[in-house]
Amino acid sequence: MRIDLHTHSNVSDGTFTPAQVVEAASVAALDVVALTDHDATAGWSSAASAAARVGIVFVPGVEMSCRWYGVEPAIALHLLAYYVDGSHAGLVAEMARVRAAREQRAERIIALMRADGVDVTWEEVQAYAAGGTVGRPHLARALIQRGLATTVAEAFVPSMLGERWRLPKEDTDVFVALSLVLDAGGAPVFAHPRATKRGRVVPDSLIVEMAGHGLAGLEADHEDHSPKQREEVRALALGLDLVVTGSSDFHGANKTVALGAHLTAPGAFEQIRDRARQTS
Ligand code: AMP
Ligand code: FE
Ligand code: FE
Ligand code: ZN
Repeated sequence: MRIDLHTHSNVSDGTFTPAQVVEAASVAALDVVALTDHDATAGWSSAASAAARVGIVFVPGVEMSCRWYGVEPAIALHLLAYYVDGSHAGLVAEMARVRAAREQRAERIIALMRADGVDVTWEEVQAYAAGGTVGRPHLARALIQRGLATTVAEAFVPSMLGERWRLPKEDTDVFVALSLVLDAGGAPVFAHPRATKRGRVVPDSLIVEMAGHGLAGLEADHEDHSPKQREEVRALALGLDLVVTGSSDFHGANKTVALGAHLTAPGAFEQIRDRARQTS
């Protein structure tokens, strides 16, 4: 069984449509694929139809943009939520709030870019986002368009999106996110918890606290974790009785990682499904 539990479509910052993600998953010989767009569930229905067509298992998911406000400045973190009820009023409202805040933040980042002489417009970035959740990869595309970067990753250097034009998002408080996910019948998994290359990471004490608030698992095998970080996450999960997952975090052409580059064990997937059944 080949199981990949973390992918993005053009409903957020991937470049494939939800159906294309699923079709590519089938080509990559995956048996199970989750679509986990940032703060959005709009891709689920077409992904589910495509999965039925190609004969693989589709897992509805979402990657919530969260923040831990226990330190100043707050630390950003991503929470994967599997099998949540996509019509849960509280969750729907919170994701809509975060998406609106992302748009306002993109407009403020564009103002910073323009002040530095880069003539990006909001209309252009909106067109790249194509109605989906706006994120920095869409701003990266505008930079590539101008020859200021050749890849999305290159646009994230400190002199551009990585630092100079970096502004925080108004993310969901991580404990609010956990209770929303549980209330919506889902299983919450902490995405790439040790990815120091993305910025500051939360202390283990917070992961212990999250486990006490219903966290189901930790993503260990991820492109942004070194072998040592993967081992640390596994050890932490073992001690806290959390499920360990692995996934590609596929973003289409916006990242170089391939579908199925990292996988989740069948037993771990089973436990995630069971956890979601327990909360719903
Ligand atoms: P945002 O959610 O708007 O803060 O943008 C974060 C997204 O940008 C991540 O989910 C990735 O898709 C992408 N990203 C962040 N850092 C990098 C990087 N160094 N190289 C390529 N993509 C990145
Ligand atoms: Fe992303
Ligand atoms: Fe993430
Ligand atoms: Zn992701």
